[in-house]
Amino acid sequence: MVFHKKQLLEKELSFFYLNNKKIGFVPTMGALHKGHLTLVELALQENNCVVVSIFVNPTQFDNTKDLKKYPRTLEQDVALLSKLSKNIYIYAPDPIDLYGKKVQSKNYSFGGIENQMEGKYRKGHFNGVGTVLNLLFRAINPTNAYFGEKDYQQLRIVKKLVEIEKLPIQIIGCSIGREPNGLAMSSRNKRLTDIQFQEAALIYKTLKKVQVKFKKDSIPKIHLFVENTFLKNNHLVLEYFEIAPISHLKPAKRKRKETRYRAFIAVFAGEVRLIDNIALN
Ligand code: AMP
Repeated sequence: MVFHKKQLLEKELSFFYLNNKKIGFVPTMGALHKGHLTLVELALQENNCVVVSIFVNPTQFDNTKDLKKYPRTLEQDVALLSKLSKNIYIYAPDPIDLYGKKVQSKNYSFGGIENQMEGKYRKGHFNGVGTVLNLLFRAINPTNAYFGEKDYQQLRIVKKLVEIEKLPIQIIGCSIGREPNGLAMSSRNKRLTDIQFQEAALIYKTLKKVQVKFKKDSIPKIHLFVENTFLKNNHLVLEYFEIAPISHLKPAKRKRKETRYRAFIAVFAGEVRLIDNIALN
């Protein structure tokens, strides 16, 4: 069932609130793929019903062209979700229903995580993410909310957001769904040409090599390896590659014992920006 107005959705969910039933929530920007559906399937298993929001949030885009070109496939998305279960409520608002008249971000401080990587390269991105999720969480009041590790930094920010906003919601991280060639599934993949799609397999291939190299090589040596790998490719341009402790996500220059690290990468295939990450130890 699709709702464009939050008031109507709230009414529909009142049965679940009144009877102390569990509501799972999967926020998305639509153009759904199997990676999204894995989150929805897990949410269905762990809750009495699931709300999936489909909303391309304008405040989290620093690049207007990217916002304009973001794939929008509501009809297909609804068909996919309807096939999955009858217990799914789809919330697809326009910006005013969610934000009111002022479609703008609140300023958040997430303890510094917001300034690294995605936050550094996409100005205001995490303020937009925090703002829209705060609004969605308050409209839906879910028990559990599901986020992909594909956007690992975002997952960490959402955990901070519910602390800051004192929201009694459990945030659950889900592993990354991949194409057969290893490329992380993404709505943006729909914008890739066939050749870009094939070449983009290099991103995960490189991360897997980084995972092996991390056992013996220094961090600067690994950086050189990654930079050279992408310099040799005619279809992909590296935006950033970082290795960071998962505790604070500040890029590391050297390895420390008893610290858990992840590698993070952002790459352009033409105008399409792709991100991925991997656990290193
Ligand atoms: P998006 O529609 O891109 O905003 O993504 C909505 C949710 O799906 C976010 O929590 C993403 O991290 C998650 N997601 C997107 N792609 C994948 C993927 N390949 N594997 C797992 N989760 C994903």
